[in-house]
Amino acid sequence: MFEQHGVQVYVKRDDLIHEEVSGNKWRKLKYNILRCREAKREGILTFGGAYSNHLVATAAACKELGFRSVGVVRGDELNPKSNETLKRCETYGMELHFVSREEYGMKNERMYHEDLMETFGNMFVVPEGGANYYGIIGCQEVMGEIETEIDAVFIAQGTTTSSCGVLMSLQQHQVLHAVPVLKGFDSKLEMETLFSRSGFDMEYCSELFDQLMVHDNYHFNGYGRYTNELLDFINDTYRKFGLRLDPVYTSKAFYALIDQVKEGNLDGKHILFIHTGGVQGTASIEAKENRSLHE
Ligand SMILES: *Cc1c(COP(=O)(O)O)cnc(C)c1O
Repeated sequence: MFEQHGVQVYVKRDDLIHEEVSGNKWRKLKYNILRCREAKREGILTFGGAYSNHLVATAAACKELGFRSVGVVRGDELNPKSNETLKRCETYGMELHFVSREEYGMKNERMYHEDLMETFGNMFVVPEGGANYYGIIGCQEVMGEIETEIDAVFIAQGTTTSSCGVLMSLQQHQVLHAVPVLKGFDSKLEMETLFSRSGFDMEYCSELFDQLMVHDNYHFNGYGRYTNELLDFINDTYRKFGLRLDPVYTSKAFYALIDQVKEGNLDGKHILFIHTGGVQGTASIEAKENRSLHE
């Protein structure tokens, strides 16, 4: 199929960066942690839902580097034993603070951060998903590690932090194909908001959008949702290429890439897929993989 369309597909294996701090989560934390050290804070306080990869990544990275970590978790009905994600956070020594959805809604308010510091000490506050200036800066380093000529780059979008960093670091002729995994998600608006909150010049950012193409029809019904077709695709990709994808992010982006190639929209291009990671919690998918291998 690739030959027929004259495409070359490369995969940037950011999933191999670290066993627990997977891919783009590590990239987004790198400069936040350096900043935390410079500012002489005790550790990182951040926010997330019950299944947040970002919380686990923060817990693991802080433990490894000798910082405290505090996770403010959405949902006061939860506890540290509620699920595997939260258990892993606790194993890495993260102090978990469960709050109501209403309180969680204040996650970006400075006053609320000050209250939290009174309780948890002198922490460096990182937004949900590592979505800040330092997160973007970390993700700008991905393309610098690519030595091949590339025309098109595919990446999954959650908070858009990773895609913002990659977009800023593209060469003039390269196009970023962003694949949001949320339904009804306005990628450009989200990216604009993040760029502006991070202090980037808006005129420069709107120029960047000339190199951006959003594929908002590969979300498979929304965040955390998937279909049998997507699970089959994950299995096929593993069988054909030995490439493990997760059902939340990377499978949707890689599906978009394959579909766009099939549609003939990328003929003759050198395409880079950024494997952003997220394959730690995929035990259920592996079970299906094993089963279908025997069928
Ligand atoms: C968190 C995550 C993303 C989303 O990245 P953003 O920077 O939030 O857009 C993509 N892929 C994987 C595997 C993730 O864990």
